[in-house]
Parts: sequence; C-alpha cells; structure tokens
Amino acid sequence: MALIVHKYGGTSMGSPERIRNVAKRVAKWARAGHQLVVVPSAMSGETNRLLGLAKELQPALVDDAALRELDMIAATGEQVSVGLLALALQAEGQPAVSYSGWQVPITTDSAYTKARIASIDDQRVRADLSAGRVVVITGFQGVDALGSVTTLGRGGSDTSAVAVAAAMQAAECLIYTDVDGVYTTDPRVVPEAKRLGTISFEEMLEMASLGSKVLQIRSVEFAGKYRVKLRVLSSFTPWDIAIDEEAQSGTLITFEEDEKMEQAVVSGIAFNRDEAKITVVGVPDTPGIAFKILGAVAAANIDVDVIVQNMSHDGRTDFSFTVHRNDYARTMALLKSDVLQLTGAADLIGDAKICKVSIVGIGMKSHVGVASTMFRTLSEEGINIQMITTSEIKTSVVIDEKYMELAVRALHRAFGLDAPSDAA
Ligand code: ASP
Ligand code: MG
Repeated sequence: MALIVHKYGGTSMGSPERIRNVAKRVAKWARAGHQLVVVPSAMSGETNRLLGLAKELQPALVDDAALRELDMIAATGEQVSVGLLALALQAEGQPAVSYSGWQVPITTDSAYTKARIASIDDQRVRADLSAGRVVVITGFQGVDALGSVTTLGRGGSDTSAVAVAAAMQAAECLIYTDVDGVYTTDPRVVPEAKRLGTISFEEMLEMASLGSKVLQIRSVEFAGKYRVKLRVLSSFTPWDIAIDEEAQSGTLITFEEDEKMEQAVVSGIAFNRDEAKITVVGVPDTPGIAFKILGAVAAANIDVDVIVQNMSHDGRTDFSFTVHRNDYARTMALLKSDVLQLTGAADLIGDAKICKVSIVGIGMKSHVGVASTMFRTLSEEGINIQMITTSEIKTSVVIDEKYMELAVRALHRAFGLDAPSDAA
C-alpha cells in the first residue's frame, strides 16, 4: 500500500462523462489498497472563460487589487472540479472528500496570478486518508497570509500536484493528461516521433523550458528539488486496464544517477517559435555596454534568452539577443528611446520571424562532436544559423522561422530518433 497522487488535466475533466471515468480509475487504485490524493484542473476551457469574464469588466487588470480579484475568479474553476469529482467517487461507492486550497491549507506568497507555494499542511488530508477516504484537492490555487485566494499561474495544477506529493512524501505522482507521455519531439511536426519510456529530470526541465508544453515548468523544478517520482501518462486508456500495466505506461521522469549506462546521446529535439531577435548595431566596444543595453531591458522586467556579442572592428561591435515575442515591440521601443543615445549605437535591427531549435540530452555531457553533427545537418539542409548557445546538456540554434519544421525533422533523423517504420 502506498500514498499516490494523481493529477488530471482539464481535458480529462472536460465533461460529467469524463469525470465519471476519472472516478472509476481513481476508485480502482483505492480498491487496490492505495491511499489516493487527487488534484484535478478546472474543466477544459473553464479558466479561459472565467478570465474572459473578468476582462470584460476590467480590460487592463493592472494593479494588485485587480489581480487579487482575478485569482478569486479563476480559482473557482478548480473548486467546481473537486466537488464534481468527489461526488462521482461517492457515486462509485468510494468515500471521498474535496478541499480547496485554503481549506488544506496550501499557503502561498501574495504574488497574485503567479503565487509560489510556501507550505502545505497535510494534517487534515492524512486524517481523511486514514479514515479510508480519497482526498480531492484543487489544483492551481492556494491562500496567502492575509487569507486571500491566490493562483499559481496558468498550468499551475501540475505544480500543485507535485507540491502535494512532495509535502506528503508520496510514493509517486502520476500526471494524467491528453497525451500518452513525453515524446522525442512534437509528433505534429515529426510523425515518426517516439514516446520516451524515461527522461531524466534535467532533460525534462530543458524540454519544458524550450517549449515542450506537457508539464508546467515549475512542477518539474519542484519535482527535481524534492525528488518526487513523476510520471506522465494518458487519461484516455480504458479506466479498467490492470493497475500494473497502467503504472508502467507513459513516461517516467528519472534522476540522472538512476539512468542506465547506455543511452541515446540526444533524447529529444525541442523548438520554440515564441522568440524575437534584436540586434544593436555598431555599439562602442567599451566596458559597461552589455549592462547599458540589457540593464535597461531587465529594468523593464523583460526576460532575455540567447545573447551574442561579436568581436569588434574599429572599436565597434554588434550585440544581439532574443526576447519573448510578446515583449518584442516593447523592447524595440525601449531601446529606440533610451539605449541608442545612451550607448551611441548606430542602428537597431529587429526580427520577429525566428525560432529556436534545440537538441537535448544528458549523453552530451560525455560525448564530443554532438554539436558539430547538429551544425552539419543544418548546413546540409541549407539552413543558416544566426545564433548558438550551449549548456552541458543542450545546444540551441536560432534560425529563420520558415525552416523550423525542416530543421526539426532533419535533426530528429540525424540523431537516430525516428521510430523504425512498421512497413517491414
Ligand atoms: N486551470 C488552470 C489553467 O487552465 C490550471 C491548470 O489547468 O493547470 O491554467
Ligand atoms: Mg496542463
């Protein structure tokens, strides 16, 4: 008998029929003798609907007073879900009780719409589990020191589930979702993409941060920090398949030292179309230049990703960096108004039609020549590389957006990730 946390996404909770299926699956685990804590998302589309209503009354939603109310509104989606799921469990003959974040309580800071969990009191939950009840806890929300309802940011139910699993030292946290695991790349771009049986926590963190959207990135960070055993699996397998089979399905996120010796050098290809590139042309190559440019950007709360500074010619250099595409116009305006005069740069060039493609794999730590295989593959496809960054376990390039799919497919093939075709 073990304490297990299940998390169900919005699609899995999308209708009474689907909720009934979730209940049947959970009841199956409880009948097998496990203690179950279940963390569901709001029904699919519900959070968007709620936020839409809020925006009709206050389009800008800028200050803390407004953001507080936004959380008050958005959190109701999950409150409905837990009540419905507890009812469905009871209807299956499985005793169950639901709690919202403040009832547990799950305490957070007061950063409305992106709050961070500070602590989880598991007393009440443990008492229910001991009494044989399944406990259903709202994802996405908590309560701050003032007693105000907070939310953890979009996709935050993943983080709630992992945090509950960490706080209660659950044996495993199973994330049931509408895909059946983590893939070598997006199967919509590369139909030959394979599901990974395991992926290391470090790789998952890179894949998530590079645009693979299976899990909220904070949930992966949490799992790494507290060493929560985490598995992503499908909620659309028949609810009555054998527990052992279900428990082995999907993708397990492992810790490096648990990994087998032999493994692929590159585990996956990630890509991200959400960035834009800005080049400050002809800045004087003197101390403090990077700070003058990026300090101004950081002061405006804009995140910078890839940065490249070239060698200087005649005391001047070009300085390029990428930002999220949503911040592109704001960054260009900011640089135009301040930084050009401040640095004495000659010009400013922006390009929003770029993308970042990355190869990810912990095998890269111990293999040389991985990056050069990447560069050769791209050159064979005639794709020009605009920027490059590397870390121990990934190499990313910035390229023209129109070559993204070509690049991802070619790299997927070059690193041996295409599944063997079943034609033979
Ligand atoms: N319901 C929230 C959202 O749509 C949280 C979640 O589903 O994880 O972002
Ligand atoms: Mg999600």
